[in-house]
Amino acid sequence: MKIAVAKGDGIGPEIMDAVLKIFEANKVPLEYELVEMGKWVFDKGFSNGMTPEAQHTIENLGILFKGPMETPKGKGVKSVNVTARKTWNTYANKRVFQTLHGVDTVFSKAGIPIDITVVRENIEDTYGGIEHMLTHDVALSRRFITRPGSLQVIKYAFEMAKKKGTRRITCGHKANIMKITDGLFLECFYEVAKEYPDLKADDVIVDDLCMKLVTRPDAFDVVVLTNLQGDIVSDLCAGLVGGLGFAPSANIGDHICIFEAVHGTAPDIAGKNIANPTALLLSGIAMLRHLGLMENAAIIENSLLYTLEQGTRTGDFGDKNKTALNTTQFSEAIIGNF
Ligand code: NAD
Repeated sequence: MKIAVAKGDGIGPEIMDAVLKIFEANKVPLEYELVEMGKWVFDKGFSNGMTPEAQHTIENLGILFKGPMETPKGKGVKSVNVTARKTWNTYANKRVFQTLHGVDTVFSKAGIPIDITVVRENIEDTYGGIEHMLTHDVALSRRFITRPGSLQVIKYAFEMAKKKGTRRITCGHKANIMKITDGLFLECFYEVAKEYPDLKADDVIVDDLCMKLVTRPDAFDVVVLTNLQGDIVSDLCAGLVGGLGFAPSANIGDHICIFEAVHGTAPDIAGKNIANPTALLLSGIAMLRHLGLMENAAIIENSLLYTLEQGTRTGDFGDKNKTALNTTQFSEAIIGNF
């Protein structure tokens, strides 16, 4: 089986190399075709941040495993991440946030377990970047929420919740203020909920949701939101389980899926070989399961969890009295625990 791999920018190549080394050590039966995507591809003159060959390869193979990518600053340049999600209609962004033993947080110390899956709509909302100046002093942004777009991500969230055996599915929204756009998303949520009478479906206004997530995170299972609110709430959830180094993400479409970490290129630590590869590794493990490689996924996941439980750490988390390993040493420790 072959998948497309784009190493990305900043810490991308360092953490991708670490993860592929772990896969190789576990004899994961995958071949990798490296594709050209990212800031350096913009710099080569490709305005969407990827070469036509990269696009062709990804469309043929159906799976892209990617490192974080930087969007060059300036007007008229679109994010390669947003372009990829739109081009291949990866309409659902699934982000899983779980307590990891060995990664201390205020909640793990208090014995409060967290297992929250955020499903974020991935294509619509303000991410079209349709904004302009009305006058010198007034800027206008347009927000698109459609019934088909909302229904497809909400149906995905309910189906995923059912398979997971979830108790509760919650819609986060701001329909009290954005009555038409968020109102439509909420209406779609309850329309789909009727088909899943065994699931407890409810809704919480997004600001209240943020407060409740940081006070009672164990009360939530699956949370589905529109694009921008989902982006913000999922970074909040990353903070609940130890930070961006532990937040994996899958962009799900009907034909193409993209697996990546939630975090960005971390320019402040790029090139130092100190980044935490866990988020990308967790995304890779989700990808292996998606591809039916259950045994490899289980062995690698157990090894990662055991390594974290041992107190083995990169510099961004854990007991500061214990020595921090660099990216290479951390991935070697995981391999050593297979
Ligand atoms: P960031 O996630 O790159 O960094 C935020 C902070 O978290 C930094 O202090 C960084 O050092 C730390 N951090 C992130 N990942 C880490 C890891 N694996 N290990 C240890 N520490 C880690 O966010 P940012 O600085 O806002 O964005 C930088 C660039 O990344 C921007 O160009 C942005 O557009 C891009 N970005 C890309 C993606 C993507 O490719 N999916 C996602 C988010 C941001």
